[in-house]
Amino acid sequence: MEYLAIILITLISGVVGTGLGGLVGAVLRRDSNKIVSLLLSFAAGIMLAVVCFDLMSEPVEMMRAGQLPSYTPIVVVAAVIVGYGVVYLLNFLIDRSTNKEVKHIDSNHPSTADDLDELIHADHFETHKKSQSNLFVAGLIMMIAIALHNLPEGMVIGASYAIEENLTANLFSGSGFIMAIVIGLHNIPEGMAVSVPLISGGMGKAKAVSLTALSGLPTVFGALLGFALGGINDIMLVLSLGFASGAMLYVVFGELLPESILMWKSKLPALSLFLGVLTGFLLVMF
Ligand SMILES: [Zn+2]
Repeated sequence: MEYLAIILITLISGVVGTGLGGLVGAVLRRDSNKIVSLLLSFAAGIMLAVVCFDLMSEPVEMMRAGQLPSYTPIVVVAAVIVGYGVVYLLNFLIDRSTNKEVKHIDSNHPSTADDLDELIHADHFETHKKSQSNLFVAGLIMMIAIALHNLPEGMVIGASYAIEENLTANLFSGSGFIMAIVIGLHNIPEGMAVSVPLISGGMGKAKAVSLTALSGLPTVFGALLGFALGGINDIMLVLSLGFASGAMLYVVFGELLPESILMWKSKLPALSLFLGVLTGFLLVMF
């Protein structure tokens, strides 16, 4: 029953959220860099606040209540580093394996792993300058990148739900639910970033929207993993929360923030991030 609830919530947050973005992209055929930039940095701020003020501090509260040993903060930091490192490594491997195709997209552009994100976005947002097949490949790469990054996002939802003593009573409150909503909403601009290049690259609208929605599916697997691991015992909950927090911090610092700043080089994405952190703080503390 608990697993069914988590599957349902993450299907809405992950698949429906990303698919909805794909649909918006299919209807509009273009997206506004500035609005997407502000939305992504605002969502990043909320995620950052939930990770720092709630997920990472939860084990410390358990320690103060006498449930966990006094070295718990060290365990949290270690798990966060492992989570960050694993997602970093996965991204590095994906970047390397898609690098060959990227070279075909734009031979003038540097195609090192570090420049991949910039390249995808340059392609995505300067659609008129690029040929159809290049856009198509950029859309596919974007789809893989989003699908991968949805896995840790799902883990955060699952691990947050694992904190709850009585899940069915707290299904629509607490960090798990806040995370499901924030992640669901920020999936909309992410879905647009997948479907717009696919459709501009010549893919049929229905197929592009379906593929975009499918890239949200790893959210469900991640959530089930985070919830199952966190439910084993207190130490596993700490490790699962720490790992998911670290993975989420990579998504925030390594993907959402650089993307939003590349889309709009101004001080406003930073302001939006700041407001997101404060909003996240209020969401967690009430
Ligand atoms: Zn995301």
